[in-house]
Amino acid sequence: MRYADPSGFERMKGSEIVVVGAGIAGVMSALSLQQKGYRVALIDRWEPGHPRASSTDYNRLFRNIHGADRMYTLWARQSRLRWMELQAELNCVLYVECGALVIATQRHSDWEDATFATFDDLGVPYFKYDVDELSVRFPQFKFDNVAYGLYEPEAGALMAHRAIIESTKKFVREGGSVHRHHVRTDEHERLHLDGKPLEADLVVVSAGPWLGSMYPRTIAPILDIVRQNIIYTSTPNADTTYDGTGMPCWIDHGHSAYGAPSIEGSGVKAAIAWTEAIIDLDNDERIVDQATFTRTRQYLRNRLPGLARERAVDQKACQIAMTPDTHFIIDHHPQHENVVIVGGCSGHLFKHGPVLGDFVAGVGLREFGTAERFKINSRLRLSSEDSPSGR
Ligand SMILES: Cc1cc2nc3c(=O)[nH]c(=O)nc-3n(C[C@H](O)[C@H](O)[C@H](O)COP(=O)(O)OP(=O)(O)OC[C@H]3O[C@@H](n4cnc5c(N)ncnc54)[C@H](O)[C@@H]3O)c2cc1C
Repeated sequence: MRYADPSGFERMKGSEIVVVGAGIAGVMSALSLQQKGYRVALIDRWEPGHPRASSTDYNRLFRNIHGADRMYTLWARQSRLRWMELQAELNCVLYVECGALVIATQRHSDWEDATFATFDDLGVPYFKYDVDELSVRFPQFKFDNVAYGLYEPEAGALMAHRAIIESTKKFVREGGSVHRHHVRTDEHERLHLDGKPLEADLVVVSAGPWLGSMYPRTIAPILDIVRQNIIYTSTPNADTTYDGTGMPCWIDHGHSAYGAPSIEGSGVKAAIAWTEAIIDLDNDERIVDQATFTRTRQYLRNRLPGLARERAVDQKACQIAMTPDTHFIIDHHPQHENVVIVGGCSGHLFKHGPVLGDFVAGVGLREFGTAERFKINSRLRLSSEDSPSGR
């Protein structure tokens, strides 16, 4: 890594690659680049695993469903194996394969309908249940206005915070360095560290939702930052029904909702996506508002009536960086050819982490070009049938 003035950066001298942002995209890219033999420095404004990052929570859902989209479905399939390898190597739980139930709402199931052909083609295991079967198989749920359920047994939840922490430790053990800095850009979107130009052979900028403010010209026009509020609810006394051992994660697009069972005692996680919600990344209190509590309670009363008398036990106010077509951004900056920008998570990047990291490394090192879908272009909003995320 080269700096215009190296004096202030003694510890990072000699690195060849800098990764800015230690969320899942940055950590996995750093690991992959390091495994290719490069010296890599990972920089973040805060400690990896900090609660403002999109990657930080007890868990993130792992699902294979991406509608008709084969590429993300394949990435998910490959990532599942990679997560399992990583947890075996690190000897800690990173992936809980409790399954994922996709609840297809009557008259609102384009995305789910489009998935069957993809799964059949790619050999993704699934079960399709009608409402009667669903009620027997998943007694925790009430299935009003449901067309059918698509159950993925090879899905579940990733222990998100732990994955960041343990992967960062692995990165350091294997020779990487982690630094606390706020990297900024100037009016030409050139990178600066502590007021001096940041020069390196390759810089991967994976600053998550902060990418828009770092790149107001290049990225802000294709990135919306959407607040996501999550509530964790207690499980009934002396009852294991809602634990990850007996209940799947679920995706309920008709209600813009999703959730996870109680894993490691977290309580049942539920989120209702409010796409109109905005967030001030650096200044807002990360506290869930009363309206969200009320709305989530109402949803749980209808969908998981056994939790109606339970209490909120934890909460998480976070954010998603949405691109119009919900495709990620993985591309060289148009003016700064040694800079690769990675982000646009659109709510489904975490689970792809290991495969995404390898892809970013390949693009950054110019082993191959990026995919058309990941280019920094103006983007079109897709129909729910065409969208990989159903949004
Ligand atoms: C509520 C919620 C639910 C989600 N559910 C799922 C799910 O079920 N499944 C799934 O796969 N995905 C899910 N996602 C999406 C997934 O969590 C994100 O796609 C992923 O975590 C994004 O990771 P990232 O590394 O791009 O960003 P982040 O995790 O936000 O990391 C960016 C990092 O960059 C650092 N940074 C920013 N600016 C600078 C700077 N100028 N200088 C230095 N450092 C900087 C930040 O401090 C931060 O640590 C969800 C997201 C949210 C918010």
